[in-house]
Amino acid sequence: MNTPIQLVVIGAGPGGYAAAFLAADLGLNVTIVDRETNPGGVCLYRGCIPSKAFLHAAAIISEAKHAKTFGIEFNAPNIDINKLRDWKKSVVTKLTAGLGALTRARKIKYIQGEAFFLNSNTIRVKKMDGTTEEIPFQKAILATGSRPAVIPHLPQSPHIWDSTTALQMDQVPAKLLVVGGGYIGMELGTVYHELGSQVSIVEMTPGLLPGADRDLTDVLYKRVKNLFSKIMLETKVAKMESHDNGITVTFADKEGKEFKEDYEKVLVSVGRKPNSENLGLENTKIKVTARGFIEVNDQRQTTDPDIYAIGDIAGDPMLAHKASHEGRVAVEAIAGHKVAFEPQAIPAVVFTDPEIAWCGLTETDAAKAGREVAVVKFPWAASGRALTLDRTDGLTKLIIDPKTQRVLGMAIVGVGAGEMIAEGVIAIEMGAVAQDLKLSIHPHPTLSETVMETAEGFFGQSTHIYKPKR
Ligand code: FAD
Repeated sequence: MNTPIQLVVIGAGPGGYAAAFLAADLGLNVTIVDRETNPGGVCLYRGCIPSKAFLHAAAIISEAKHAKTFGIEFNAPNIDINKLRDWKKSVVTKLTAGLGALTRARKIKYIQGEAFFLNSNTIRVKKMDGTTEEIPFQKAILATGSRPAVIPHLPQSPHIWDSTTALQMDQVPAKLLVVGGGYIGMELGTVYHELGSQVSIVEMTPGLLPGADRDLTDVLYKRVKNLFSKIMLETKVAKMESHDNGITVTFADKEGKEFKEDYEKVLVSVGRKPNSENLGLENTKIKVTARGFIEVNDQRQTTDPDIYAIGDIAGDPMLAHKASHEGRVAVEAIAGHKVAFEPQAIPAVVFTDPEIAWCGLTETDAAKAGREVAVVKFPWAASGRALTLDRTDGLTKLIIDPKTQRVLGMAIVGVGAGEMIAEGVIAIEMGAVAQDLKLSIHPHPTLSETVMETAEGFFGQSTHIYKPKR
């Protein structure tokens, strides 16, 4: 009998706990170290899950308002913010306690505390009760995640929030400025708008959601520009001054012209920074990049052969599902399986209203690389299902290799886009061609039919659009 490998997993977010669970399933002797009482990480405690719970509440408010257009009118909602916050907490508790139970069921040792590398095969854990323990390991997986990035020289103020404070939902401010038009800012801006705040967004670049294709963000912009008070693009925050009742923000537009406005609260969501400091990495052979990410190879092994790194700390995209996949790859590599992290399509979903989702090659990246691609789009105005939902503000798009017909990318904007993008992931990962999507019968009436119709469009044969192939 071989003695099982002693594995320590530092950080129990979606990267760390997925890795630890698989490692235990494969027979390794696993210890998890995390600051929280249960696994879950940022994603479950103050990220994906709480934000999606609030977005669900926001969607109900929005749909109830919208129903007026087809003859169903509700009174304005009576929002009990304490109850809403408690419900969000209960969702988080159910999930994290469930992960705690799964940890115990798998006989994984869980230590609540903070880990620090003493050398390449030992960590010291400072536990919550102040005591310390040294833990030797054969292999370690580092999964300490990330935290909100800050704008330098901001005043210390209770009126300045980050995503964590915004998700605590202590109050709904009358007037909220969101700094940063990325996905976190747009999602939380949507929540607070529906709960009753006057929301403005300021974004340094010329468009919302930098990185996403413009035809997708245009659809979102068209809707939110009527909902949000102001969307200030190509505008920077030059200064913030805190006072008793809020914050005075000085903006600088692209010509450098300055103007001021007062807000009750300001949510700063300008990206995230990897948690690679104060871990004792200097006592190991791990290398850290200029942006603070840990250098890893295709197996997620660091430059210290016994230590692996996964999730937000191992680089972009900083997404939960990418972290979990990397975790599983790292564990398989440790278990001696032939494995590599080589996804063809990591999906990204922005849970705004409408949602935006994409995977594989984007039109923007294809253009940047000068790669010849066929871009086929299906507007949702031609979708029966979209009409029944009274939400024709959508678009499905395929990026196809014109020579081989291989599906290289898929992108969707519209309600439910996040649920549909997995079809693109499977198509790309399995090397599907446009014909495969065209010939696969999709259920009617669903929004998923737009994927099939987009593929039909590649051949100039979309049933509900007349656009013959030239
Ligand atoms: P994390 O989840 O960051 O977990 C790291 C863990 O390490 C934490 O529990 C921390 O306590 C612990 N830790 C850190 N240092 C130490 C130490 N020294 N010792 C012990 N433990 C330590 N992603 C999506 O895919 N979909 C979404 O919809 C989505 N929405 C988001 C919304 C918001 C508001 C935010 C902030 C993020 C969102 N994300 C989303 C991103 C997602 O949360 C992260 O990509 C994901 O949590 C990264 O997982 P991870 O395993 O790398 O680490």
